[in-house]
Amino acid sequence: MKKYNFNPGPSVLPEITLKNTAEAVLNLNGSGLSIMEISHRSKDFEAILKEAKDLFREILSIPTGYSILFLQGGASLQFTMIPYNFLNKKAAYLDSGSWANKAIKEAKLFGEVQVVASSKEQNYTFVPKNYVIPADADYFHITTNNTIYGTELKTDIASPVPLVADASSDILSRPMDISKYALVYGGAQKNLGPAGVAFAIVKDSLLEKVTRPVPTMLSYKTHVENDSLYNTPPCVAIYACLQTLKWLKDLGGLKAIHKMNNEKADLLYNEIDRSKLFISPLTAAEDRSIMNVVFVLKPEYKELEEKFLELAKSKGLVGIKGHRSVGGFRASIYNAMPLDGVKVLVQAMKEFETQA
Ligand code: PMP
Repeated sequence: MKKYNFNPGPSVLPEITLKNTAEAVLNLNGSGLSIMEISHRSKDFEAILKEAKDLFREILSIPTGYSILFLQGGASLQFTMIPYNFLNKKAAYLDSGSWANKAIKEAKLFGEVQVVASSKEQNYTFVPKNYVIPADADYFHITTNNTIYGTELKTDIASPVPLVADASSDILSRPMDISKYALVYGGAQKNLGPAGVAFAIVKDSLLEKVTRPVPTMLSYKTHVENDSLYNTPPCVAIYACLQTLKWLKDLGGLKAIHKMNNEKADLLYNEIDRSKLFISPLTAAEDRSIMNVVFVLKPEYKELEEKFLELAKSKGLVGIKGHRSVGGFRASIYNAMPLDGVKVLVQAMKEFETQA
């Protein structure tokens, strides 16, 4: 039976990414060596790294004056690196989910943190709006997609201070105006590649704002100056990212994938809205994520949760159990999830309704 992987991350990747990476692990470009074995300073790997960065830049239209980094430590280490490098006196944060909250916790180790708005009290059922970004903050930090709660900030907001965005779970899902941001970062393990590599797109002029001494490996400057090769990078993971970027380009880039993502999300949200059993816990329809679709059973059908998970499993639908802090279900429909996967899920939801 065909399996559809709705896991939130690590998550579904394009088949071509898996196939090409598997081949390169056995024999890279017919060299008789594995991508796992070659030196990160070899010509072969340098070409892979350069192509990955060039494609990232081309697909996301990253302007000159920005560097693209491949880092380790996941998005979580950047929660620390950001204030370490850029919080001189005060930083502003938007508290739109648990990941934002974790970023806030780290920033507080380095200086004053102003949380401009929070939806925590409402279990993060919406993205806070109508807040004021303090003009004296060193930067303003947002999370573009809240993976756990299924809310998304779908526009590139204007900020009077450098805008820093955790885009772990919606990078490359839509066209983005990078020029509005000073730093866009995230783990690769949703729309880009396997776990073990993180990305950062950093405006070079931001690096001039660093005033405190920063340990070498935690300094963005180190990685910019050494072109992500200060130490041994995760070569296999970067190779896999390159395969996904090639796939995305061949598919028509961000405009094309955005259209496909909207189509998948619409199909699923329309079924949730139509269904007698399921409901979206979100309070603002405009915040509905096109990457992580969260839905729950209406209170009167709550006891059917396990049954629906069983039905889903029998249809080859994997990873739709919701996060423990929300309950219910979450279908992560990242770039590589085919429309067919969403169709099978919608069909299962309809079938379940006829049995309930
Ligand atoms: N931010 C967001 C929005 C996430 O979804 C995640 C992981 N799911 C993280 C940060 C943490 O990423 P990592 O595990 O790479 O540290």
